[in-house]
Amino acid sequence: MTTDRPYIEPPPQAKATPNQCETGNPKCGKKARLFAIGWRCQEHSPRATRLKTTEQQ
Ligand SMILES: [Zn+2]
Repeated sequence: MTTDRPYIEPPPQAKATPNQCETGNPKCGKKARLFAIGWRCQEHSPRATRLKTTEQQ
């Protein structure tokens, strides 16, 4: 059914730092999972960021 949907490869930067959160400066570097936007640790995951934003408002 969804075979026409193209597979999206992670960006080259993500491959350079596998399993490490690439958020922040200096880089977070925590154990991370690969999301559509790149490697993110539990703290910096899209879901966590959304929850944090909701709390502040
Ligand atoms: Zn992080």
